Amino acid sequence: MAKCIVCGRRAALVVSYLRAPLCKEHFTEFFEKRFREMLERFQMVRSGDVVAVAVSGGKDSLTTLYLMKKFSEEYGYEVFALAIDEGIAGYREHKLKALFELADRLGVEVYVVSFKSTFGATLDELVIRLKEKGMVYKPCSVCGVFRRYLLNIAARELGATKIATGHNLDDEAQGFIMNVLRAGVPNIVREWPVSKNGHPKLVARIKPLFLTPEKESLVYSLIKGLKTPFVECPYVVYSVRHRVRRWLNELERNRPGAKYAVIASSFLYSISLASLKDRLPGPTTCSACGEPSSSELCKACEFREYLGLSSGPISLKPEVYRGHKR
Ligand code: SF4
Ligand code: ZN
Repeated sequence: MAKCIVCGRRAALVVSYLRAPLCKEHFTEFFEKRFREMLERFQMVRSGDVVAVAVSGGKDSLTTLYLMKKFSEEYGYEVFALAIDEGIAGYREHKLKALFELADRLGVEVYVVSFKSTFGATLDELVIRLKEKGMVYKPCSVCGVFRRYLLNIAARELGATKIATGHNLDDEAQGFIMNVLRAGVPNIVREWPVSKNGHPKLVARIKPLFLTPEKESLVYSLIKGLKTPFVECPYVVYSVRHRVRRWLNELERNRPGAKYAVIASSFLYSISLASLKDRLPGPTTCSACGEPSSSELCKACEFREYLGLSSGPISLKPEVYRGHKR
């Protein structure tokens, strides 16, 4: 049995890219220190901020909620949890339950916005429409666009100054590979642990787990008792990300540190193209809904039209939230 390199006690995990076994206590210290360093080094929060933690109910978003709450008093910001209920039977209800349990434990308010109450259809119903139309668009494309869209609107309406997401190192490495494969240079350049708003209606995003490998987030969530059921979204099989994820995991097994190398490349890419970044057009305003957009019609409105959903500005009524509006 491996021993902790700090205290010699039984190791809870071997941080493979460092070849360093760590016991529960020293792993927790290492993990939380990196989280705080992200908050500080990238100036993610400031005193007076109101942070909406976007929680899916998976281990990464629960960990983000737990740690954002833990450090809130010290850094002087407020926290609440924000979840999107896409309407995925057999999956979403279990993940929301995990979120409610943790939020109760932490004393954090939770707000939930659903596809059904906003668009009039659940993702399950929308997938039937996608299939009828030949699956030109995959469920994750529609789900991802609608989720980001609603998160921004809800966070803004609830008075948030930042949205914290649980994206970890693995997610970011996958995203970088996917952007490289589709030659998405502007997206690569824009990906950063903090994304500036650039539009009066866009809430700035922060990703405190940007440099945290998924495996470590799993171990931390187990140590802290952040329970989440092992259910997987049934639509994950359609996603390209799913395949990239498996490939990257295989690579990491053979070459510990490979994911960090991918992220280092993405940083270098962003830095070397920084001058281009300043010249990239910022978000404009969607002509249909008035939300931030990269083109005349935003992607959400494009999907709303394609799927026969209502058009125009989105109004999230207070009753769609669980909890109380500020
Ligand atoms: Fe949505 Fe795809 Fe994630 Fe399922 S796997 S919740 S469809 S983005
Ligand atoms: Zn729009």
